[in-house]
Amino acid sequence: MDIVTYGDPVLEKKALPVTEFDENLKLLVAEMFDAMHHDRGIGLAAPQVGVSLRVFVTETEGDGQRVFVNPEIIMTSPELAEYEEGCLSFPGLYFTVKRPATVKVQAFNEKGKAFTLEAEDLLARVILHEFDHLEGKLFIDRISPFKRGRALLHFQKLIKM
Ligand SMILES: [Zn+2]
Repeated sequence: MDIVTYGDPVLEKKALPVTEFDENLKLLVAEMFDAMHHDRGIGLAAPQVGVSLRVFVTETEGDGQRVFVNPEIIMTSPELAEYEEGCLSFPGLYFTVKRPATVKVQAFNEKGKAFTLEAEDLLARVILHEFDHLEGKLFIDRISPFKRGRALLHFQKLIKM
């Protein structure tokens, strides 16, 4: 599975909920981990492989592989944190994004088992970034219009190289 890069309309569409926890879902999740590992990512959302479904996976240092199906953000901290983010759909582009420092999320795993997770630091960051993908929102939408314009210009130069 190839990772879709910026410009593909699937990245700006709101993804649909998963209705069947079947073999196709398990296959999708396995392929997403493969694609993420191939590009050395720590998080990947289904729209990034061209599948408009509410699924994302994470694998951050010190934490194992996690699968989030039909996730709901149930709490975010008022405290914000700044961190330099990248996105596999914008290869080579990095900039600082402010997001809540902690997040509480409810989701299902690929087998349909419900769970609740409270995350902080890098895992919270990745969850919020990937959740945005399911809403059709990208990390360039989380910065000021001026910085967004500059980031996009820089990205266009990067992809021409
Ligand atoms: Zn991303």
